[in-house]
Amino acid sequence: SALYKAMAGKTPERSFIMVKPDGVQRGLVGEIVKRFEQRGYTLRAMKMMHASKPHLEEHYKDLSSKGFFKDLVAYMNSGPVVAMVWEGKDAVKTGRKMLGETNPLASAPGTIRGDFCIEVGRNICHGSDSVESANREISLWFKPEEIIAWDPCIKDWIQE
Ligand code: GDP
Ligand code: MG
Repeated sequence: SALYKAMAGKTPERSFIMVKPDGVQRGLVGEIVKRFEQRGYTLRAMKMMHASKPHLEEHYKDLSSKGFFKDLVAYMNSGPVVAMVWEGKDAVKTGRKMLGETNPLASAPGTIRGDFCIEVGRNICHGSDSVESANREISLWFKPEEIIAWDPCIKDWIQE
């Protein structure tokens, strides 16, 4: 399509989306994956991982001065997570909209947090907050060869 031709040589926008340990334990992996698939984003990488505390401290380093940082790292280290790279038009901002607000109680029904949780320290999913954070997070969680190049056969029915 014209869009794919126009984007030739450019990397389409990607976001780092992660199902947190509570989302995995509650059986919400499929539900979260389903929403990104149905919206029209392309899954480029996915893995389950029980992340170490140093890895999580690096992931959340911007929050290291916060009072909740230790609890946040303990929560994220309490079980496996499912880390993903989703690609497509406006993936970062739209991904955040699909997640809802940081505080689930402030999240609109219809968003992932607004539909499935009530506690900021148990908010089931992560999404990058900018393209720069997305690039940093993707390279922290995935090796380049783990990001899979493929073309969904339905792409021309999703992007004009
Ligand atoms: P996010 O980008 O919406 O995930 O929010 P932030 O980047 O600001 O914070 C990262 C994560 O830290 C959030 O998703 C929450 O799980 C947790 N968090 C943020 N603020 C608080 C807080 O005030 N208290 C607690 N307990 N956890 C928080
Ligand atoms: Mg954040």
